[in-house]
Amino acid sequence: MTNEAWGQVREELIKRVGRNNYVTWIEPLKLSHLKNGVARFEVPTIFFGDWVQRNYADQIRTQLSTAGEPVDRLEFTVSTGAVRAQPARAAAKATPRRAAADEELPGAPLDARFTFDSFVVGKPNELAHAAARRVAEGGPVTFNPLFLYGGVGLGKTHLMHAIAHELQTRRPELRVLYLSAEQFMYRFVQALRERQIMDFKELFRSVDVLMVDDVQFIAGKDSTQEEFFHTFNALVDQNKQIVISADRAPGEIKDLEDRIKSRLQCGLVVDLHPTDYELRLGILQQKVDYYRSQYRGLVLADGVLEFLAHRITSNVRILEGALTRLFAFASLVGREITLDLAQDCLADILRSSDRKLSIEEIQRKVAEHYNIRLSDMIGPKRLRNIARPRQVAMYLAKQLTARSLPEIGRRFGGRDHTTIMHGVRKIEELMATDSQLSDDLQLLRRLLQG
Ligand code: ADP
Ligand code: MG
Repeated sequence: MTNEAWGQVREELIKRVGRNNYVTWIEPLKLSHLKNGVARFEVPTIFFGDWVQRNYADQIRTQLSTAGEPVDRLEFTVSTGAVRAQPARAAAKATPRRAAADEELPGAPLDARFTFDSFVVGKPNELAHAAARRVAEGGPVTFNPLFLYGGVGLGKTHLMHAIAHELQTRRPELRVLYLSAEQFMYRFVQALRERQIMDFKELFRSVDVLMVDDVQFIAGKDSTQEEFFHTFNALVDQNKQIVISADRAPGEIKDLEDRIKSRLQCGLVVDLHPTDYELRLGILQQKVDYYRSQYRGLVLADGVLEFLAHRITSNVRILEGALTRLFAFASLVGREITLDLAQDCLADILRSSDRKLSIEEIQRKVAEHYNIRLSDMIGPKRLRNIARPRQVAMYLAKQLTARSLPEIGRRFGGRDHTTIMHGVRKIEELMATDSQLSDDLQLLRRLLQG
């Protein structure tokens, strides 16, 4: 089977298992072999393969069969290249028991790209970032736990991995354990079933830094909550650092026991706010440097990143996905990355994150800003002090809405689409040299997006 076909199977699996599960469990799978009804995958840990086998094997098999590759068995091999949240063993200190626990330290794989270096800091996340940095210094525990919360794709997991990476470098003797709440539960249930609950307890109580991602997952799962609570207390009593993330504040997690809520609130609770324009642009600029090195020779037109940062406001994962797709598409068709290309290639994403900004709103704001009449926007006057603002409005209409050129033309008094295109180009050209104009545009954008 070609990688392309596996790619299609994966696409299908996103729909079946949901994006979160997909990212956690399916995306990391590397198909290494497919023959005689056996599909073999490389996985980061034994535990990982186990979990996929138990939970997703049926769906993977079904999808492979649908794609014309009947498979009756899945096998998993542990790849050696993966970076893992495994502590370097401090040989001098390790007792035999600890060494045994080390073998089993069930850390989830760490994403090597999620470092502090690659984390772009802006107003919405500066507090969370500063707190994470503090924990990553590995100094005396000052707040416990550190509780990070915020909507999907705002960087919680990124920050937690960054802490783990940094601690591995600075304090290699520390036992750092990062895992999702789902994995915590899985380990716990497995320990119960295999009557290894003492080992489980010992393992979790022997870590120096425990990080549990997406803790909202254990809400309503009573025995898991109970165990989590005890683990948590035992570590806090020993003055061990705990870092927790969730999609909302502790008090707002439904079906979470009150005593757990109040313990979670005891430390430092910080939220990651939704991104703002500057942060999104910063993130895009950083990623672009990477893509430039990957896709040499691709030309990126001015204004495209700004356009994306304005229009894709929902979450960073989608923003990144858009950029990835854009570069891949442009390199495939061998074209320059322009606004038009972006609009074509990202139509679905743009549509779903459309803020429904109307052309009329744009015209009104621009008219106010330049002190001209709204009727002049659609009227025929060609004087520079009217024509220029009109072109600014055309440019913003093109950038900030999903309207086509002919549609925009209609709303500018029935002008031809070539006139609109000319206006958009003119502003693009002027922006490069006229700093007053580019300031105006920035301000107007902010007003319109605000
Ligand atoms: P969460 O865990 O909050 O749902 P993630 O940490 O998985 O979100 O982030 C989603 C994606 O967005 C990741 O690829 C991450 O690297 C990226 N990302 C989020 N915030 C930032 C940021 N401030 N700088 C750089 N990348 C970011
Ligand atoms: Mg996450």
